Amino acid sequence: MIKLQNVSVKYGEITALIDVSLEIQDGKIVSIIGANGAGKSTTINAICGLVKLSKGAIFYNDIKLNISPQEIVKMGIVQVPEGRRIFPSISVEENLILGAYIIKNKTEIKMNMEKVYTLFPILKKRKRQLGGTLSGGEQQMLAIARALMSNPKVLLLDEPSLGLAPKLVLSIFDMILELHRSGLTILLVEQNASKALSISDYSFVFETGRLIAEGSGKEMIDNPIVKKAYLSIEE
Ligand code: ATP
Repeated sequence: MIKLQNVSVKYGEITALIDVSLEIQDGKIVSIIGANGAGKSTTINAICGLVKLSKGAIFYNDIKLNISPQEIVKMGIVQVPEGRRIFPSISVEENLILGAYIIKNKTEIKMNMEKVYTLFPILKKRKRQLGGTLSGGEQQMLAIARALMSNPKVLLLDEPSLGLAPKLVLSIFDMILELHRSGLTILLVEQNASKALSISDYSFVFETGRLIAEGSGKEMIDNPIVKKAYLSIEE
């Protein structure tokens, strides 16, 4: 379980997270929804050790995550960043190999590559192509596949559906469900609130750095504040 305890994060004068406490239970799909600038990406970056906490602490299975980002990846917490950020000028296969940077055993890297090719046959087809020549949906698959190369236990997905055509959004959400069924814990950060809530076991709603509501996906879909602000349904 990942636990945030009274976490605040500041960027200079801007406070991006204010006293946030939340838990991500093992084996669940947990989502964070909220508008632009609500602090969703900052939460993911704080868990990954990429931003400094100005207050509070983050734990994974009771171990305090005041360690390097690389050590956090080795513990099994891996992020798929917003905007995909694959390496455009190297091949799909080279992108995948870079995703396995914490693994030294070549046989294990090969096995992981076969696993991700089974999950994403299109990436096998395109393995010699440069990352930048893939379509938006394929780049998102590559970004997820690259994260899977390091044997994660918890996958932190930052806006995976952003900028994708509706059909591709559906297949990315199906993929998230499949990864969850395979045993991964998922933290999903999304502006596509209705879709995220529909697949979430539990969800947190953020507004300008604060946690303002939480509950099961179903409870949040029915929550009047969420309906009004994020689901475009007036009460
Ligand atoms: P978005 O969907 O737009 O990414 P978000 O909910 O993920 O929104 P964050 O990216 O976490 O929000 O940003 C929270 C706040 O912190 C915003 O006010 C944002 O402008 C600010 N912020 C984020 N990153 C930085 C940074 N590197 N330097 C300064 N301010 C930042």
